[in-house]
Amino acid sequence: MKLGIVGLPNVGKSTLFNSLTKAGAEMANYPFCTIDPNVGVVPVPDFRLKLLGDFYHSKKVTPAVVEFVDIAGLVKGASKGEGLGNQFLANIRECDAIVHVVRCFEDPNVIHVDGSVDPKRDIDTIDLELIFADLEVLERRISKTTKAARVGDKDAKRELEMLTELKAHLEAGKDAIVFDMEKYKDEEGIVSAFRELNLLTAKPVIYAANVAEDDLADDGASNPHVAAVRELAKEKNSEVFVISAEIEAEMSEMSDEDREMFLEDLGVKSSGLDKLIQASYRTLGLMSFLTAGEDETRAWTIKIGTKAPQAAGKIHTDFERGFIKAEVVNYKNLLDAGSYAAAREKGLVRMEGKDYVVQDGDVILFRFNV
Ligand code: GDP
Repeated sequence: MKLGIVGLPNVGKSTLFNSLTKAGAEMANYPFCTIDPNVGVVPVPDFRLKLLGDFYHSKKVTPAVVEFVDIAGLVKGASKGEGLGNQFLANIRECDAIVHVVRCFEDPNVIHVDGSVDPKRDIDTIDLELIFADLEVLERRISKTTKAARVGDKDAKRELEMLTELKAHLEAGKDAIVFDMEKYKDEEGIVSAFRELNLLTAKPVIYAANVAEDDLADDGASNPHVAAVRELAKEKNSEVFVISAEIEAEMSEMSDEDREMFLEDLGVKSSGLDKLIQASYRTLGLMSFLTAGEDETRAWTIKIGTKAPQAAGKIHTDFERGFIKAEVVNYKNLLDAGSYAAAREKGLVRMEGKDYVVQDGDVILFRFNV
């Protein structure tokens, strides 16, 4: 999973990105690989991993990971190539979802590019740039499809209808994600043409309302800027999570224990990283299953609804091709039973076939032919 962090300058993107990648890297003792200063690999916090790792005395415990990309430079005019805008837009195109950081904190020492804190205006500014970039992609596709339609290509004619409709939709200031594809749902060609456009505004967005420390305890309930973000997000069917980039930065310097105590003092249940990952999993419809043993205990990310062979394929393509069956036990049942053998004796280990839909928290041992 790859998440692109966007937002206007000075809203706290880099502060957030740096603290998430740093905290994450230390939390799981994960080799922090810097591919690029703006790309960070962060382990997905999962309390079950530690429990299972201890249970098996695993030599290695490997979390699932999320890749974060700090996409700076998205400013007014970015879609027109100002301020290297187009390169940044290309970076967003590769992401599964967008994390839009919105400034909800007042601080006279931190200049706002547009002079005041106004989440709705800020969100509209970024949205508009993304829509402009999408319109450019769309116009290129329309001109190509128009040529094909002119020589009598029937599929092209139908695609052109969809593209024209989509163009009007975007021109009305609406995101591609809320474009009604329902009437095309039985037309595979049209559905894949839409998907191939890979529009920026077709990506799910999660809003990160960046607040001052004082607003954390009540989850931003008394901050009108957060209320504005929540209202907009509701219209867009998006999630909002409240975060303080500054506090995250402070926490990223702490040990696990100190961090927990610090969170408790603040009256906050989960860290920003936890909130962000949970929101992303929900938004993208993801979940984790586990594999466990002496050599390695590991978490794997899959889409909700994935069947056993495809889940096996996440580990190795041979596992999917040669899939025979899955031995499945819920992690808690396994821990409660005291050992794998005991869990099996109690009938808690089930044999599942190729139609089994993997559940969150399943510990799975795949049987396969090589
Ligand atoms: P970016 O341009 O969006 O990447 O913003 P930065 O992360 O560089 O932050 C811009 C400035 O705002 C820096 O001086 C930060 O220290 C400050 N800042 C970031 N988050 C907060 C916050 O939650 N509260 C306050 N008061 N300042 C913040």
